[in-house]
Amino acid sequence: MKNLQMVDLKGQYTHIKDEIDQAISEVIDSTRYIGGPHVSGLAQELQDYLNCKHVIPCANGTDALQVAFMALGLEPGDEVVVPAFTYVATAEVIALLRLKPVMVDVDLDSYNMTVEHLESAMNPRVKAVVPVHLFGQGVEMEAMMAFAKKHGIHVVEDSAQAIGSSQVYQDGSKHMYGAIGDVGCTSFFPSKNLGCYGDGGAIFTQSTDLYEKIKMVANHGQSRRYYHDVIGVNSRLDAIQAAILRIKLKRLGQYNQARRKVADHYDQSFADVDWITTPLRSGHSDHVFHQYVMRITNGRRDDLMKYLAEKEIPHNVYYPVPLYKQKAFASFTDVRELPVTEKLCKEVIALPIHTEMTQEIMDHIVSVVKSFS
Ligand SMILES: *Cc1c(COP(=O)(O)O)cnc(C)c1O
Repeated sequence: MKNLQMVDLKGQYTHIKDEIDQAISEVIDSTRYIGGPHVSGLAQELQDYLNCKHVIPCANGTDALQVAFMALGLEPGDEVVVPAFTYVATAEVIALLRLKPVMVDVDLDSYNMTVEHLESAMNPRVKAVVPVHLFGQGVEMEAMMAFAKKHGIHVVEDSAQAIGSSQVYQDGSKHMYGAIGDVGCTSFFPSKNLGCYGDGGAIFTQSTDLYEKIKMVANHGQSRRYYHDVIGVNSRLDAIQAAILRIKLKRLGQYNQARRKVADHYDQSFADVDWITTPLRSGHSDHVFHQYVMRITNGRRDDLMKYLAEKEIPHNVYYPVPLYKQKAFASFTDVRELPVTEKLCKEVIALPIHTEMTQEIMDHIVSVVKSFS
């Protein structure tokens, strides 16, 4: 079997090609390349989809996080609690703004930070926390929000990998990830569950006060044209990308369902393999499987990687190195070792998962993985 990929963007495009091509050529024809009806239309549609009062599209997910932190008005040296097992962007912007990332461990089964991890890191300098909904599985936010409120800290959700996922609270109410914290940040990087054809991102908030600040920071700190109240950045989503995202947002439910089906198949196929621990599906949320990440518990993850490479089965390790062991963070953290993060970095492996997976490809991947010994 040839040309297997972690994610099949070409196959997905093929199904919506006519609609996409027409939308792109309409934008080019209109000459409204910055802002305009597609950007505001996307913001409105995301507001409805997430049940969120305000959506500010921006240039990418890393910018979304940076702008969010700039808008919160934290002081240099303020501490922000982040999981040590995440993509670098989560903590990078914190360090960039001269805030202090406080790295905490994660749960072995969900790979996510819990309110207990947050609690263990609390001290009077902690001003914010970034729950990262890793691989498409939501952090338990009901307890996290209650704790944050009690301690007066900001919650900035990193929902770059979990758009479309939600949590049902004890009272039965449903909350979309990204629209729960004070601010939510997402990325439209092509391979994300809602990806565009370049870079893109968005910021979500239910607070009108924060919305005004975020909008200002993302637009050169100006409240009206050529009047600059704060130092800001330039972070915009292109109109072409917004037009593409509107087409894909209509299909996001269907796309996430297709990912879940692949995950179900892997789960069932590996249930009888004693050296594989398939990913947890937490009781509090649905999983949108940005990645299918399982653990290889016989100590031979790296051998399996070599084997899969020989057999041309795509795979990846998210993430091989804990944040606190990255050279860039050496002067930003005193953390040396967190046991679960260390274990996950040695055991996790991601298999292909996307919206275009066929039974034949899945069966092939499963049989190769199972033939490893
Ligand atoms: C992708 C991603 C980001 C950054 O998004 P970009 O659009 O690539 O800047 C941030 N956090 C997490 C968890 C991500 O997966």
